[in-house]
Amino acid sequence: MSLAFDEYGRPFIIIKEGEAKGRLKGLEAQKANILAAKARRTLHARRGAAVCNILKTSLGPKGMDKMLQSPDGDMTSSGAVRVGATILEQMKVEHQIGKLLVELSKSQDDEIGDGTTGVVVLAGALLEKAEALLDRGIHPMRVAEGFDRACAIAVEHLASISDTFSYSLDNTEALVEIVNRAHRKMGQIAVDAVMAVADFERKDVNLDLIKMDGKVGGSLEDTTLVRGIVIDKDMAHPQMPKDLKDVKLCVLTCPFEPPKPKTKHKLELESVAAFEEMQAKEKDYFTQMIRQARALSATHSLLALDAGANLVICQWGFDDEANHLLMQNELPAIRWVGGVELELIAIATDARIVPRFAELTADKLGSAGHVHEEAFGTTKDRMIVIEGCPNSRAVTVFCRGGNRMVLDEAKRSLHDAICVVRNLIRDNRIVYGGGASEIACSLKVSEAADQVGTIEQYAMRAFADALEQTPCALAENSGLQPIETVASVKADQVSSGRSYLGIDCNQAGTNDMKEQKVFETLIGKQQQLMLATQVVRMILKIDDVIEPAAFNG
Ligand code: ADP
Repeated sequence: MSLAFDEYGRPFIIIKEGEAKGRLKGLEAQKANILAAKARRTLHARRGAAVCNILKTSLGPKGMDKMLQSPDGDMTSSGAVRVGATILEQMKVEHQIGKLLVELSKSQDDEIGDGTTGVVVLAGALLEKAEALLDRGIHPMRVAEGFDRACAIAVEHLASISDTFSYSLDNTEALVEIVNRAHRKMGQIAVDAVMAVADFERKDVNLDLIKMDGKVGGSLEDTTLVRGIVIDKDMAHPQMPKDLKDVKLCVLTCPFEPPKPKTKHKLELESVAAFEEMQAKEKDYFTQMIRQARALSATHSLLALDAGANLVICQWGFDDEANHLLMQNELPAIRWVGGVELELIAIATDARIVPRFAELTADKLGSAGHVHEEAFGTTKDRMIVIEGCPNSRAVTVFCRGGNRMVLDEAKRSLHDAICVVRNLIRDNRIVYGGGASEIACSLKVSEAADQVGTIEQYAMRAFADALEQTPCALAENSGLQPIETVASVKADQVSSGRSYLGIDCNQAGTNDMKEQKVFETLIGKQQQLMLATQVVRMILKIDDVIEPAAFNG
């Protein structure tokens, strides 16, 4: 009996002909099982590391973009999408271990919003080291325990080498600077957006209040922050007023037009006069509807100077005749507003959505301080902006860009910047990037490993080595000699005690990350280490993957 691997690397046992099947039940079978399980675990580690390695060349300011092809042939560049999480998601990872790593990247994204590539690169490095330890016959649980211990030391060390980052509400310049790496204006928008919705007492920011919107066209420079809701519509009639103050608005999900004879009924009119009479009736009826809406607003806003100011926001369209009547009766209207936006407007303005016109009453109207049409940037496109809503501090970041890819890239970098600002409000401690904090932690962990007398020592040392993979990847991606560069930075850190020395990716002439202003938030970095260690522990615990197909077969 021997153990072999098929072309996919799956282990299987070959039983020589004549060997009694019964033999498999004994100790031999157990041994074979253990052998196979060990082989499978090693294989899981190897497969996982292979998935992670794909991301390695994307890490850092000089990281390479990946060209991604979706199943229907669309191409995107990874630079234009949420990096780590998206590459993995779109890669169509076949095996379960790979899927765990996709989840890993997503968790980092959900919790922190930044560092999604870094977390996978670290997990990959840990898996590579784990594979080597398993090969040396160390039990997977001992490896996991050693990693856990090392991770705890590193996380603690991060806190001890962290700096506090000071900013104040009146002076957000420092914040803008920190997120400004890509684009000054984007940094400003990100900071303003977060400041507008932040809850400083609870030290938290509800990111749901920041709506990211965008439209292809214009240039990146045209991106703006709107303190309210933006809808990609214009007033139904070009002659309707485009700037309304103290607005009372009704939100309709029913058609708003003159009644129409249903097509399934037949109406015979014998004379032109009869037809005209019917038309006039229709018109009257609709005018009545308009009056009803206007009258409501009049009673509702008795205090408002302009009692007649009013606005209809409608999920449906209305024909030219209705539109004309609305304009004539000075009731501005916006038509074809999507359901999601309608809901957002209703919540923000305190309006109740009215599904049947007859149900429209004064208390169902919403209010907004200012509704106006606005042109964004240099383009001719116009949108409606609803500001001064009673119920929401919500803001909209409205991105512009020449094409879909530029637009998505802008959204991604804004999202990352917003997350960094949010994280700093939650906890304003920072560590230095460019691999500086990884090198510092690596030194600390290997120092601690020397004090450990058990087998975990090997796993801890392996963890320390794995931490060096981040600066190595950064150096390699910037065209530097990875091993030499990291060795030299490491030596510098040891001799000077400065834990903020890292990889000079942009060849700025100094490896001082403090000077280069390359920071990462402490919570983000700690989360990266913890999540990567956790997922590796999970993978090491799995000794078999039972695919659903196996049940069917
Ligand atoms: P992630 O998706 O993990 O955020 P990135 O591709 O944004 O991945 O790379 C982040 C890594 O690049 C971090 O380790 C960060 O410290 C490093 N980094 C970013 N800017 C610089 C820089 N100017 N110099 C050196 N390292 C940098």
